[in-house]
Amino acid sequence: MQKTLILYTGGTLGMRRSASGYIPDADLQALLEQLLADAGNELPDYDFIALEQLLDSANMQPADWYRIAARIAHNADRYSGFVVLHGTDTMAYTAAALSFALQGFDRPVIVTGSQIPLREMRSDAHNNLIAALLLSADSSLAEVSLYFNGKLLRGNRATKVSAGSLDAFASPNYPLLGEVGIQVSLDRGALLVPATERNFQLPEFADGGVALLKLFPGISPFFIGKLLEYRPRGLVIEAYGTGNAPSQDPAFAQQLEQATQRGTICVAVSQCLESRVDLDKYAAGSALRDAGVIGGLDMTSEAAFTKLNHLLAMGLPESQVRKLMTTPLCGECTP
Ligand code: ASP
Repeated sequence: MQKTLILYTGGTLGMRRSASGYIPDADLQALLEQLLADAGNELPDYDFIALEQLLDSANMQPADWYRIAARIAHNADRYSGFVVLHGTDTMAYTAAALSFALQGFDRPVIVTGSQIPLREMRSDAHNNLIAALLLSADSSLAEVSLYFNGKLLRGNRATKVSAGSLDAFASPNYPLLGEVGIQVSLDRGALLVPATERNFQLPEFADGGVALLKLFPGISPFFIGKLLEYRPRGLVIEAYGTGNAPSQDPAFAQQLEQATQRGTICVAVSQCLESRVDLDKYAAGSALRDAGVIGGLDMTSEAAFTKLNHLLAMGLPESQVRKLMTTPLCGECTP
């Protein structure tokens, strides 16, 4: 039987106005029931559960990703599909993290939300929610995806590109998985090939201690040194272009080299939306490679950050984490 579990985590979709701005509202289920009352058999049946603490996704922490993943894993055989209602601000991080936690899952997990709350007149929540529910009943989708404004994106390839338009997400380095317009069309060739078995990975201590650093003109080695004094276990560096960083002052690469030697795993991604890191292309990139920094291929910053966090939280040995960072686990990068 087709039945979807809707998991409400917070976000604008269910928010209401307050004196300090929009806040999550626990009272979403009744609104949804009203909205979907006339759906007949066009949509799958659903159950609804809400997280104990509903969050503006700006407050999401790595442990929350795994709380959501655990709810899905726990219900894996009870439902044929899953819809996660989530705020847009960190939706791409959660979608990527869920993809690493729920590897090999044979059912659709669709993360969605909206830019305008459901209870408001011009809300985009209706369309997003109804399309996500429809897609959650499509058994050819065996992966974590993100649905927004007519587009279905691979969860670990998505990034938020707009806070002002209803078209909030893009998948810069991977084709759309599908589009919902007058017709629902999936690009079957772009979908993840279903795995032969589930490989759920739900580490207990979810925070892998990863930091994220965006390079900027004038960044000093001193600044990086201060950050590295916190001894992060992983560092994702948003470098320029194909993975370049300042190379004139050797102290910059030295800081990273020392950190690598102390066991911090450093990964470079690009500040460009459409990009692929190649640390051999420029001398300004090979300095990073020589310092032990790993090139993050065409991963989004969100995918690299959540993947590194995940592998470290799983307690894997350093050499394996380094290797897996450039190995596709669930379609997050192109080798
Ligand atoms: N701040 C909100 C959130 O991420 C934004 C949204 O949902 O669109 O929860």
